[in-house]
Amino acid sequence: MTEGLRKSVDIILPAYNEELALQSTLEKISKELPRDGYKFTFIVVDDGSEDKTWQELLLLKESYGETLQGVKLSRNFGKESAMFAGISRARDRGVDAVIIMDSDLQHPPSVLKSMLYHWDNDEFKIVQGVKKYSASESFCKVVFSSLFYSVFSKISRLELKAESDFKLLDKVVVECLSNLKERNLFFRGLSSWIGYKSMSIEFDVQEREYGDTKWSFFSLLKYSIGNITSFSSRPLMLVLLLALGYLLLSCYLIIKTLYLHFLGFNYQGYSTILILISITGMCVLFSMGIMGIYVSKLYEEVKGRPRYLIEDTI
Ligand code: UDP
Ligand code: MG
Repeated sequence: MTEGLRKSVDIILPAYNEELALQSTLEKISKELPRDGYKFTFIVVDDGSEDKTWQELLLLKESYGETLQGVKLSRNFGKESAMFAGISRARDRGVDAVIIMDSDLQHPPSVLKSMLYHWDNDEFKIVQGVKKYSASESFCKVVFSSLFYSVFSKISRLELKAESDFKLLDKVVVECLSNLKERNLFFRGLSSWIGYKSMSIEFDVQEREYGDTKWSFFSLLKYSIGNITSFSSRPLMLVLLLALGYLLLSCYLIIKTLYLHFLGFNYQGYSTILILISITGMCVLFSMGIMGIYVSKLYEEVKGRPRYLIEDTI
C-alpha cells in the first residue's frame, strides 16, 4: 500500500516514572498493531519523571527511529496535562486519529485492532475503552470510582460509567479538544461532552507489571472534587439548600423560644446552645469551602497560565 493511502494514527502514552515499563509496553503494543493500512507513531509524554524514563526513551529511539517521538514536560503536571500535550502534538502533526493509553500496559493492546476497526469501518469518531472491573483492582478503588461516576453523572448530566482514558479519537475530536481554552481539564468528561458518534468497548484492567500506581486515596479524592467542580456549578446549589434548611430550623426555634417566653418559661440548657453553635459553624464552613473551590478554579483560569511547559522533544 502506498504511503499516501495509509491513515496516520498517533499512540499517546503519558508516562510518569515508567522507566521499567516503557520498553515492554512499546514492544507489546507494536505486536498488536495491524500491519497494513495504517502508519503508527508513538508519542511518549514524559510527565516530569524523577527516574530515568527520558533516558530510556532516548535509548528506545535508536531502535524505533521515526516511529517514536518524545515530549518531556518541565515538571510533573499530572496525567491530564500530559495527555493534552500529546494530543496537541498529534494535532500539529495533522494525524487522522489518536489513541490514548496508559504506559503501564494496564490498558490491553489486544483491544487496539477492534478500536481501529470501529473507527475506520463504522465511522465512529470516539471509541472508548470501558473498564470491566477485575480482581486486580482494589475493592476500595472500585467502590470509590463507582461512587464518583454516579455523583458525576447526576451533577454534570453526562453519562460516564467506568470510563477510562483508553480512547481512540478521530481528528475532528482532536481538533475540538485542542481548541478548548479551559485549564482545569477532565479528559473523560470532556470527550463525552464533545458529543459525536461514539461507542464503547469493554476491557479487563490488567495487572500492573512494573512500578506502582501514582494514586493515593487523597489524590483520588482531590481529583474527583476537582473534576466535579470543573464540570458543573450545581454544588453551589447545595449552599442555597443548606441556607434554606437553616432558615427553617431558625424559624422553628425562634417561634418556640418566644412561645415559651410568653408562657413564662425559658429554653432549657447549655446543650441546645452548643448544638446550635456547632450546626451554624458547620454550615458556614462547608459553604465557604464549596465557594472557595470555585474561587480557586476561577483564579486559575483567570491567570491563564499554560497547561504544561515543554522542556525537550525527540
Ligand atoms: N501518569 C502521568 N502523570 C502522573 C501520574 C500518572 O503521566 O502524574 C501516567 C502513568 O505513567 C500511567 C498512567 O498515567 O501511564 C496511569 O497512571 P497509574 O497507572 O498510576 O494510574 P492507575 O492505572 O492506577 O489509575
Ligand atoms: Mg495504571
